[in-house]
Amino acid sequence: MNKIVVVGGNHAGTAAVNTILDNYPGTEVTVIEENSNISFLGCGMALWIGQQIDGPEGLFYSNEKILTGKGAKILMETSVESIDYTKKIVHAKDKHGENIREDYDKLILATGSLPIIPPIPGIELENVQQVKLYQNAEEVIKKLEHTNMKNIIVVGGGYIGVELVEAFKRLDKNVTLIDVADAVLTSYYDPEFTRVMTKNLENHGIKLSFNEKVVEIIGDKKVQAVKTDKNEYPADMVIMAVGFKPNTSLGDGQIELFKNGAFLVNKKQETSIGDVFAIGDCATVYDNTLDAPNYIALATNAVRSGIIAGHNACGTNIESLGVQGSNGICIFDLKMVSTGVSETKAKQLGLNVESTLYQDTQKPTFIKNNDEVIIKIVYDKTSRRILGAQMASTYDMSMGLHMFSLAIQEHVTIDRLALLDIFFLPHFNQPYNYITMAALSAK
Ligand SMILES: Cc1cc2nc3c(=O)[nH]c(=O)nc-3n(C[C@H](O)[C@H](O)[C@H](O)COP(=O)(O)OP(=O)(O)OC[C@H]3O[C@@H](n4cnc5c(N)ncnc54)[C@H](O)[C@@H]3O)c2cc1C
Repeated sequence: MNKIVVVGGNHAGTAAVNTILDNYPGTEVTVIEENSNISFLGCGMALWIGQQIDGPEGLFYSNEKILTGKGAKILMETSVESIDYTKKIVHAKDKHGENIREDYDKLILATGSLPIIPPIPGIELENVQQVKLYQNAEEVIKKLEHTNMKNIIVVGGGYIGVELVEAFKRLDKNVTLIDVADAVLTSYYDPEFTRVMTKNLENHGIKLSFNEKVVEIIGDKKVQAVKTDKNEYPADMVIMAVGFKPNTSLGDGQIELFKNGAFLVNKKQETSIGDVFAIGDCATVYDNTLDAPNYIALATNAVRSGIIAGHNACGTNIESLGVQGSNGICIFDLKMVSTGVSETKAKQLGLNVESTLYQDTQKPTFIKNNDEVIIKIVYDKTSRRILGAQMASTYDMSMGLHMFSLAIQEHVTIDRLALLDIFFLPHFNQPYNYITMAALSAK
């Protein structure tokens, strides 16, 4: 008998459990989850706050009942406190304070990530908000019901911060985004693209304060202002969106870690301890751009890693294909997608890269409803292997990014891309397609 215990039942944990029970019926699986819900799509948080969707109901794709119906034993609102990796026993406590002990043959750690809370004076004040859980979104929405909630400061211009400034602006708030960097989305895009998003945010009335570091949150019980190294801003609510760190305290100094503290796993999701797998935000991924392990916290990676661990825990030997960190964002109708590395990031990493940038309309000029598209492809100067791609448009060109993701995974060169058979139909694109044109103009 193979008894599997899964710690954490969000995207990664749910994917592992579904894989196990769909493919290996009858396997004994116990899921231990400390929250009261599972499978919350955090990406829907901004849509819910900004009232672009009616409510949170559709933001869950699984629950305790569904997984129990498949045959899993689910312990909700139960927190794993320690694990004896030698005796293969998990020690947990339920919401009534009762101690629980589960032994295992295989263990899957899916403990995810935690918001980074910088040690700034005033961080504990009321109305300083984190944004990770369903409950966090609920808190923010409840607070917004107070009419005196006018000035909202978002700290951090990554995906989540940028999505949230749009949400608050849609509610007609005074919104300021503060970031220590000189633009938004700098981890994924080069200046040609961050400039477009910056203009988009400014055009919609969002105040952007770049190159500023938050040094204090001022208030008396409740937040009143945010002080940076350059300015002070009145604030009724402050959203801290400065990133996430892997939640790996259960490794207890026994599991080998990556440089940022994530569980270091191989392509089978195995940790350094036998029969112990780690998946999702608590673990590393294999980054095909770097040909090395990396940390890229995305729901997509969480799901794929859960599938791989589920199969391996049941004895089917499969390996991850690696990832490119493909991602997308849509803000006030401006769509940006990227995969692999930006040119800026590549140079920071010491990679010897070249890039090609091309701008055109999506369709021929005789088509009336048309949109500008910008595309940039980053490739290795010597091998000419594609290492990254970025695209921006108000047109939904997002599906094109999957091809670049595959190109990076399969080590395709920029020259092979230039000769790729790309179809043409005026309803969709141009005979001289911008992907081809960008590749052809590579030096
Ligand atoms: C606002 C927001 C927007 C996002 N948008 C996107 C997007 O558009 N696209 C995308 O791909 N990704 C997005 N992400 C990232 C994505 O949500 C994460 O990558 C994903 O949640 C990772 O899933 P996970 O299951 O590995 O970890 P988590 O979601 O962190 O889940 C870990 C689970 O483990 C449980 N747990 C932890 N410790 C214990 C313990 N000791 N005992 C029991 N249970 C425990 C937790 O309660 C939690 O349910 C977004 C994230 C946020 C916050």
